[in-house]
Amino acid sequence: MAKSFDIKLICALCIAALVFFLAERLFAGEGGRAVIRVGGETAETLPLPLDAEYTGGGVVVEIKGGKAGITRSTCPNQLCVRQGFTDSPSKPLVCLPNKVSVTIEKAGAPEGVDDIAW
Ligand SMILES: [Zn+2]
Repeated sequence: MAKSFDIKLICALCIAALVFFLAERLFAGEGGRAVIRVGGETAETLPLPLDAEYTGGGVVVEIKGGKAGITRSTCPNQLCVRQGFTDSPSKPLVCLPNKVSVTIEKAGAPEGVDDIAW
């Protein structure tokens, strides 16, 4: 009796671990997500695999083909628009005049650490 309970418990734990692993891959592991911050506060988090558009803080952020980019901005120098698109956690996009930043986060990697380039 006690033994069959143990086996069931172990099976349940294995299934839970598997589901967690698959869910993590599905939602964040494949391409990560773009975190848009306006004035230091997180305004929006968008999964990179899904094309999307965010408008706010004076900029337009587009998610396209697994990459994030600032495509329009009200700032005078347009440096953020010229940065193009990024899919790397070590290449954040920043618009200083509008205090907007777009950073890429990937599952399994601590924030701000690039596990691909090194
Ligand atoms: Zn800008």
